[in-house]
Amino acid sequence: LCYRKGKTPRRPALKKTNNVEKDPVGVYCRIRPLGAEDEECCVEMISSSTIQLHAPDGLKANRNGEYKETQYSFTKVFGINTGQMELFEDVARPLVEDLIQCKNGLLFTYGVTGSGKTYTMTGSPGEGGLLPRSLDMLFNSIGPFQAKRFVFKPDDKNGIDIQSQVDALLERQKRDSQQSVPKTPSSRQKADLEFADMITPEESRKSKNIDEDCSYSVFVSYVEIYNNYIYDLLEDAQFDSVRPKPPQSRILREDQNHNMYVAGCTEVEVKSTEEAFEVFWKGQKKRRIANTQLNRESSRSHSVFTVKLAQAPLDADGDYILQDKNQVNVSQLCLVDLAGSERTSRTRAEGSRLREAGNINQSLMTLRTCMEILRENQMCGTNKMVPYRDSKVTHLFKNYFDGEGKVKMIVCVNPKADDYEETLVMRFAEMTQEVEVARPVDRPIYHLAAGRRHRNQGPAGGLIESLPALPPCELVDPTDDQTLPRLIEVLEQRHRIRQMMTEQVKFMLQQFDSQMSSKDTFVHDQQSKLNEKEKVILNQKTEIERLEKKSKTLEYKIDILQKTTEMYEQDKRSLQQELEGQEQMLQKELSERRRMEQRMQGVVTDTKLKWEKECERRVNAKQLEMQNKLWVKDEKLKQLKAIVTENSSGGSFPPEPPKKPERPSRERDHTMPQKRSASPTALPVMFQPKHTTTVPPVRPTHRRSRSAGGEKWVDHKPASNLELDTVMQPIIPNAIKVSTPNEKALSKCHKYVLRHQELASDGEIETKLIKGDVFKTRGGGQAVQFTDIETLKQECPTAPRYNISLKYPGLIMLLRCSVSLQMYFGVLFMINKIEDSI
Ligand code: ADP
Ligand code: MG
Repeated sequence: LCYRKGKTPRRPALKKTNNVEKDPVGVYCRIRPLGAEDEECCVEMISSSTIQLHAPDGLKANRNGEYKETQYSFTKVFGINTGQMELFEDVARPLVEDLIQCKNGLLFTYGVTGSGKTYTMTGSPGEGGLLPRSLDMLFNSIGPFQAKRFVFKPDDKNGIDIQSQVDALLERQKRDSQQSVPKTPSSRQKADLEFADMITPEESRKSKNIDEDCSYSVFVSYVEIYNNYIYDLLEDAQFDSVRPKPPQSRILREDQNHNMYVAGCTEVEVKSTEEAFEVFWKGQKKRRIANTQLNRESSRSHSVFTVKLAQAPLDADGDYILQDKNQVNVSQLCLVDLAGSERTSRTRAEGSRLREAGNINQSLMTLRTCMEILRENQMCGTNKMVPYRDSKVTHLFKNYFDGEGKVKMIVCVNPKADDYEETLVMRFAEMTQEVEVARPVDRPIYHLAAGRRHRNQGPAGGLIESLPALPPCELVDPTDDQTLPRLIEVLEQRHRIRQMMTEQVKFMLQQFDSQMSSKDTFVHDQQSKLNEKEKVILNQKTEIERLEKKSKTLEYKIDILQKTTEMYEQDKRSLQQELEGQEQMLQKELSERRRMEQRMQGVVTDTKLKWEKECERRVNAKQLEMQNKLWVKDEKLKQLKAIVTENSSGGSFPPEPPKKPERPSRERDHTMPQKRSASPTALPVMFQPKHTTTVPPVRPTHRRSRSAGGEKWVDHKPASNLELDTVMQPIIPNAIKVSTPNEKALSKCHKYVLRHQELASDGEIETKLIKGDVFKTRGGGQAVQFTDIETLKQECPTAPRYNISLKYPGLIMLLRCSVSLQMYFGVLFMINKIEDSI
């Protein structure tokens, strides 16, 4: 007895969630039989879901045998022998079941003109198409449960209102009074095609899933879309056959559930299949007339027949429909006979017709594009905009694809050769199968106990009817004493029954009351819970606000930090660049310096080597020259000696045997001083300046040292000399002490002494003071003539006695030393000069 008044939206906007169940668009193929048996057939059904196209002979010849045997697959293929009933069972029947279960459906036929679209949808006498069969099944199912006319009333916004029985009755009476001739099947003019001719009684179908506790009502509308304009075919406007006015086109609107509808379109409430079919034929007729009058071609228009089913639950007593608009459930089935899909060229359209044709093709093209994009979006997860709005047909059915519903398409095929080229458009149909549409979900619309419709025919109703009938209570005879007691008895009986009923009702009321109170407490509980939840929500809201503020400040901080980081990074980059530049420069300079150093070293060693060689060469040359001169002089002296000896004949000098003069050579240089060692006079000759003509006087060898005299000395003490612990040390007053002799010192003095240390044969160090005179040479140089040697030697008292005979080897050493000394000076001067020039 209770019901929840919770509002369940009829068709809420579909939420785009992933767990929505989807079904692919059902695409069926129907092959019609050939017009004549001898015609060439180019379509073959190779399985229950596949067809194969064979290129016609003419085409094969034209293309030199290059053709493709194309195959297409569909949800199901219906061959030429498929009857209308079979097609209905497979394709339309599930849609009618859905309609009764409050689910929307869309069914359209697609194909070239003459392929059997209209035949499939409408049918012909004895072979009713899907439309009459669907209507038949619908009315067979809801027949006894239909609401009285005008209880359901379409509003202007694609919804359906509900009004009370009384209002509905008043409206009915008003309509009847306006219609002079009441419309009854008996008085009806015979329609062009009667429904009775369409379907045989044994082919009638009925749904088993009908909810008997609901009341139903059917509304139909019929529109035509021609040249992308929508026309209402059920409009009541009188058609002026003399001066035909172009009919008013309609616009599309979107209702609150996002369904598109034709604004202001006539919706006729129909109560039977016959009535519905009559309305359909009325529209058909109007379409035909308009097309003839306005010179249109019907094959170029789309026709849309919509069956709308409104259902609302009966109240708890099952007497009346619940007066709650929110409980009205509306579903619709659209049956669309699309325009011919052939290409414009084939229709030989001209002028305005061409434009129309273009438009029609355009709307079918849009349908195609929409399907392609939908498929792409669904398969690839893209979110491309589907251009539903580009044509009226696609716009009208937008919500079937975007929202939910069941979509089916029947592709009609004429297998004749002429249609071969057009049949290639079946690729579109095949592709459409991959588009998925959200499956409509079951929605419980009310929460009332089942079986309400028959409630009042139950025990309570029976009780009232079971009251005993009153006996005749007319008193004609005053003596009649039977009538009254019988009446009293019956009345008492009735009274008892009434009391029983009252008690029953009281009991029911009590039960109801207790149920009500428990419901009240339940509602109360829920209310308090709701309040608590609201508080929690409020708290959470403030918390969210706080967090939002915090996140904003944090975002701001992050922003600033990011900017700072960017600045620092920029700085870092520029500094790094600078550093790299500097490093490169440094490297360059370093390598330059290394190269320079190497070059300079090379130059120095080269020059050094050159000069050393040059020096050696010059010394050798000089030596040779001097020796030559010496030799010449010797010769001359000998000759002079010989002359003197000859002249004095027997003087103080004994005659010497003449010697064969010998030319000096380098090899002999070494032995020469040894030969001359006995005659020290020869030694100074070696040191004579180049152009000396006078020979310096010879001094006696054994004389007192004159080192203590007044002359100025150059005291040459080589740095390599060791300091010896001797008592006797030469003391030379007025001496210039040098470690290496130089020209400057020599030019200031007349005497030269070299402190020469060497190892004696007994292993002791011997210091020799080699003395000489300093001369100025003609060339401006200095020459030293060695004159004297003093030897200082330390000896160990335990060593063997000093052997005097070792005196001579010492002298040889001295001579050698003299030669090397001269070379030493020369080289020294030269090196000095080189260094200056560098
Ligand atoms: P469309 O509407 O596609 O232009 P129609 O439905 O008007 O084509 O069909 C053209 C003709 O072919 C009609 O006379 C129709 O009776 C016939 N026809 C079409 N399909 C069939 C079919 N499956 N069985 C028998 N006749 C058919
Ligand atoms: Mg047709």
